[in-house]
Amino acid sequence: MTSSTDVAKILERIEADKVKFVRLQFSDIQGLPKNVAIPAWQTEKALTDGISFDGSSIEGFARIEESDMVLKPDMSTYSLLPWRGSDSPVARFICDVYLPDGTPFEGDPRYILKKTLAEAKEMGFTFNTGPELEFFLFRLDQDGMPTTVSQDKGGYFDLAPADLAEDVRAEIVLALTDMGFEIEASHHEVAESQHEIDFKYGDALKTADNVITFKYATKSIALKNGLNATFMAKPRFGINGSGMHVNASLFKDGKNAFYDPEAPLQLSEMSQQFIAGVLEHVKAITRIANPTVNSYKRLVPGYEAPVYVSWSASNRTALIRVPAPRGSSTRMELRSPDPTCNPYLTFAAILAAGLDGIKKQLDPPAGVNQNIFEMTDDERSKAHIDTLPSDLITANRHLMEDTLICDVLGSHVIDGLNTIAQIEWDSFRTSVHPWEVEHYLTRF
Ligand code: ADP
Ligand code: GLU
Ligand code: MG
Ligand code: MG
Repeated sequence: MTSSTDVAKILERIEADKVKFVRLQFSDIQGLPKNVAIPAWQTEKALTDGISFDGSSIEGFARIEESDMVLKPDMSTYSLLPWRGSDSPVARFICDVYLPDGTPFEGDPRYILKKTLAEAKEMGFTFNTGPELEFFLFRLDQDGMPTTVSQDKGGYFDLAPADLAEDVRAEIVLALTDMGFEIEASHHEVAESQHEIDFKYGDALKTADNVITFKYATKSIALKNGLNATFMAKPRFGINGSGMHVNASLFKDGKNAFYDPEAPLQLSEMSQQFIAGVLEHVKAITRIANPTVNSYKRLVPGYEAPVYVSWSASNRTALIRVPAPRGSSTRMELRSPDPTCNPYLTFAAILAAGLDGIKKQLDPPAGVNQNIFEMTDDERSKAHIDTLPSDLITANRHLMEDTLICDVLGSHVIDGLNTIAQIEWDSFRTSVHPWEVEHYLTRF
């Protein structure tokens, strides 16, 4: 509930920060950020009554006949946008979306995650996520348009002059730190012009908000430096794509419920059940975690991205890895998501699948400790290692067939995602790609 003291405190802060404009931010069902800017003096009204907007113009939100919606700022998300400078400071709130009658809008991705977190809370759990976002910094052309031309030729952990983005990354890190992120590390990634900045895990709602903020800050600061930051999953053939590994753990009574010093590998029974649940639903989760036609060009052998449905206590070729640290850092890492995903829906789907595993006390299959890519089809088949969906339309079919994940996302979002997948797949499938022209034009 918004109390008048809370409102007064925020208004004082806005005045002290000399804020001129306030951006009210939210996400559409694809996780693309949207916002409306209001002059700072309108903030009190926004905080107490909310601000109306036309939901029919937002992807997957509403039909034109019932389009009025209301944005209500979450006051805990107040932050200045550091890259906007101090001349006319700009602040933002992340908002929840409501219908005019005051009920939460069931197509708001943030609401869906909140609902799933509330279910976990009823079971005594808080859900923590630590996403690792990778991205490329590409050059702009002479007209200022984005290209896929690399800015540098650096590789994993390189330094300048191989890494030409040290200063841009530092600027992003400083801005995010000002916005309250605890940055753990930043480095050049494996592919040329590819980078990663890691921030500390936390409650999944805060972390999903952070993912949106991370992409917004990175894109804005890259552009100020004459570069385009892209989170597209596989922008170039032949080099690594960009992942968004999701580290996940449940805490109960302030303690990591995945850790059990007495258990084999020090992994609690609950962690095993959670992993089993995620594996059980992972084909449906793929549609959410890998939401574009292009996402599936990343999920191929040879580029450190997963292809096969498996888990392992160490192996980076597995879909789920359990990194070595134990104690409060005990976690599973789902390696399939890419940064084009909607983080709210992705975290909600992973949590719901894991909780399902716990409720049904599922056992995971045996962990795989060899390089899965080097196994033959026969060996994989004998080890019961299944394959992730290989394209968007197949993943979409798995989602439509998974009643648990459909229930968690709700019919509004499911219908929207289904429509988007059908339209994008049809458009892609009927396009003539440069590869086809190159291979067939003169041969036939
Ligand atoms: P990798 O070994 O895959 O490169 P990193 O060390 O780069 O992993 O990133 C690990 C991520 O996991 C960080 O975001 C970190 O905050 C997060 N993490 C650590 N402990 C937990 C936990 N208990 N639950 C969820 N995420 C965690
Ligand atoms: N870029 C790889 C991917 O597509 C991940 C590399 C890594 O392990 O950090 O998932
Ligand atoms: Mg990485
Ligand atoms: Mg990782």
